Amino acid sequence: DAAGPDAAARQPRDLVAEVAAGFEELYGAAPAGVWAAPGRVNLIGEYTDFNEGFVLPLALPHTAVAAVSPRTDGVLRLHSADIDAPLVELRLDELRPLSDGGWAAYPAGVVWALRRAGHTAVTGADLHLASTVPTGAGLSSSAALEVVTALALDGLFELGLSGPESARLAQRAENDFVGVPCGIMDQMASACATEGHLLHLDCRDLAVRQIPFDLAAEGLMLLVVDTRVQHALGDGAYAERRAGCEEGARLLGVPFLRDLPYAELPDALEKLADEKVRRYVRHVVGDDHRVERVIGLLDAGEVRAIGPVLTEGHHSLRDDLRISCPELDLAVAAANEAGALGARMTGGGFGGSAVVLVEEAAAPAVTEAIRTAFAGASFTAPRVFPAVAAEGARRVR
Ligand code: ADP
Ligand code: MG
Repeated sequence: DAAGPDAAARQPRDLVAEVAAGFEELYGAAPAGVWAAPGRVNLIGEYTDFNEGFVLPLALPHTAVAAVSPRTDGVLRLHSADIDAPLVELRLDELRPLSDGGWAAYPAGVVWALRRAGHTAVTGADLHLASTVPTGAGLSSSAALEVVTALALDGLFELGLSGPESARLAQRAENDFVGVPCGIMDQMASACATEGHLLHLDCRDLAVRQIPFDLAAEGLMLLVVDTRVQHALGDGAYAERRAGCEEGARLLGVPFLRDLPYAELPDALEKLADEKVRRYVRHVVGDDHRVERVIGLLDAGEVRAIGPVLTEGHHSLRDDLRISCPELDLAVAAANEAGALGARMTGGGFGGSAVVLVEEAAAPAVTEAIRTAFAGASFTAPRVFPAVAAEGARRVR
């Protein structure tokens, strides 16, 4: 239906058979096992994770699937069905951070992080993967890749890792081996989310609470709008926001912005002379509070009332943190004008995706309004699809 959301990507189950068959063709034997790890979309709580605050993501049905067998000779072989490149072969004792290994740096980085953390039982592997998580759309295709690798190696070498331990190692791989300074949200969502729930994550101690999130039962839908704008330009801006937040915490005498109570925000803002630091602090402390408000509304069964909180969060990202872009602003404005309950950009910003809360019956009209607005502005046509809270990482075969 051209007027409705795009069909969701291929089902993970099809992908499992495809990836297992691909592995056998490539390596000449069936894999020892097959694992899956999803991408994620964040409902609210943006740039709060590295401030040790709160986030509220859900796992997507879009998944990375990896077929893997162990090796004992210190060799790591990596292949992706989605990349037009030959098999990558690496020696574990030669793995070096920031060696610009392209896509293979994500799974190789996980092996490196595991071994550096003392998991020397990991003595090599053959891996073949494919993923339905769109790349560079702010839906964490990179975390899906890392987490599926961590889970597979944990299973094959019986490392006994918890979900949060796998997530931390995956984050370390991305931070220190690939060289991307991301927080912990993406890996935790992929590793620990459960079907039908939002993951309420405290990024300080990685405590999680599963929040029931059955929008269909309420006659509601969460749409993801992938603007098709890549967020590569945001790299320097991310580091700059991060430094600004750290500066704010230092000036206010708290270890992290998470430690500033919301009630004290007005007084704190008056103490900050630098207007940029003031904006960053207002966003982060405000978004932590918005996570709390959304949870309060969900606990009270007032699901529709979270819509305006989402839109408020967008305005904070646009005006205070200043990480939005014309496409994201247009998606949010067009959705709200067409009758959505609320909308916001999600993820790192400067492109990527927005989330839109709509009445199920209004989803086709809202989707069409976004498409029409994009066409009118001569923007690339967005991809729009419904997000249903799916399972986190798991063994599938
Ligand atoms: P995001 O995580 O928002 O999708 P990133 O830039 O963090 O964007 O990660 C995207 C990168 O992850 C890709 O450029 C590629 O290197 C790697 N990647 C993601 N999915 C795959 C895949 N299916 N096969 C190979 N590499 C992938
Ligand atoms: Mg990523």
